[in-house]
Amino acid sequence: MVGLGIAGMSAAIGLRRAGWTPVIVERAPERRTGGYFVGLFPEGRQAAVDLGIADHLHTRNPQRAARANSWSVDRRGRRRPALGFLDQPGEPAAVLRGDIEAALWQNITGVEVRFGTTPVTITEGPAEVQVLLEKADTGAQYRESFDMVVGADGMRSSVRRIVFGPDEDYLTTWNAMICAFQLKEQVPSYEASDSIIIARAKRAMWVFGLADHAPTALLTYRTTDIQEQFSGSRVQRLRSVYSGMDDPVVRHVLDSLEEAPDHLFDSVHQVRMPRWSKGRVVLVGDAAWCMNLYSGMGATSSLRGGAALGVALLEHPDDLAAALDTWETGLRPFITKHQRTARLKQQMFVPSSRRAEALRSVLLGLIRRIRGRRPVTEAGGPRTRALSGTSR
Ligand SMILES: Cc1cc2nc3c(=O)[nH]c(=O)nc-3n(C[C@H](O)[C@H](O)[C@H](O)COP(=O)(O)OP(=O)(O)OC[C@H]3O[C@@H](n4cnc5c(N)ncnc54)[C@H](O)[C@@H]3O)c2cc1C
Repeated sequence: MVGLGIAGMSAAIGLRRAGWTPVIVERAPERRTGGYFVGLFPEGRQAAVDLGIADHLHTRNPQRAARANSWSVDRRGRRRPALGFLDQPGEPAAVLRGDIEAALWQNITGVEVRFGTTPVTITEGPAEVQVLLEKADTGAQYRESFDMVVGADGMRSSVRRIVFGPDEDYLTTWNAMICAFQLKEQVPSYEASDSIIIARAKRAMWVFGLADHAPTALLTYRTTDIQEQFSGSRVQRLRSVYSGMDDPVVRHVLDSLEEAPDHLFDSVHQVRMPRWSKGRVVLVGDAAWCMNLYSGMGATSSLRGGAALGVALLEHPDDLAAALDTWETGLRPFITKHQRTARLKQQMFVPSSRRAEALRSVLLGLIRRIRGRRPVTEAGGPRTRALSGTSR
């Protein structure tokens, strides 16, 4: 197993249930925590139940407020109640990526994890896969044989590059960038758990409010010169992208970026592969099908994909090829559907033009009016809860 993210740990739990003995190698020197806002949809919540992690999964949905939870800010700086990410059908659970990983981590006790380790070569033999592994700290290399290799090492997967071919063969370019990080504190004059959306043509800024945690911010913009975005200072780059948007929200978020201990800055892609396995090597999660953040289904599909892999292996204990076939056949329609809808959702995150911006605004306003005012939850406790339903 390569990668200690959501896909890697989900697959490890699935494999262990199917009677395998997973070994996870992870490039980072230690397990990461925190991360950005993630909305977990019903399929992901079901996979969490299937993997036995639901009771450990801490969710952070803000209590529904009488006034509004989400606001959009228009070009004149006026704030209006809006439909936010959490208002989507399926009532997504609000978590940080690290919340899902923490829950999975609790369930992989006993699984061997080797930090600071990466695969260098992967060579398949008739009955096993030989992997040359490298320790990051010393550069020492050693060979080891496994019955199967699971590449769960993210969008720029090394396993995919080594076994299936270069990134260019599989990564589609979306001419867009993202920057995600945690705010130290909420934008002044907003409630702590409010979400704020500023969606302009080609550039957008989202603040995701959480019940018991500082909000996280997502900056996303469209550009055709991806290479250029990685040159120079990131803060300066983003200040120039958002220049002219003279709004207190924009100012606060950009100032917060300067103080943030870390952030994610990357180009947006989708991974498209005709087949997710080759012999005894299989890819799962972003490595295989990265749908990208606009789909809002990456974490959900990683959980589901890992859990389903375990089930397929359990059902075909003596036939790896049949297990991988069954797994891919069952999962692919779900992945294809969400890869397709991501394009439309991108328009909701960051409209492609002034026209799309106006259309988005009219459409969401209409939906909001049709739905009417969202029912306010009773004066009871906040909607922070474990997936089992018990408050934590
Ligand atoms: C800003 C943002 C917002 C998102 N919002 C949502 C959302 O609302 N809903 C949702 O469902 N999804 C969302 N996603 C997507 C979701 O976070 C990802 O799809 C999911 O985390 C992918 O998990 P993964 O385990 O496949 O890959 P990763 O999280 O990329 O994990 C890969 C792991 O492999 C390790 N690794 C990499 N290379 C090597 C190597 N060579 N050797 C060893 N280890 C290696 C990495 O260190 C990492 O630990 C969002 C993503 C982003 C960026």
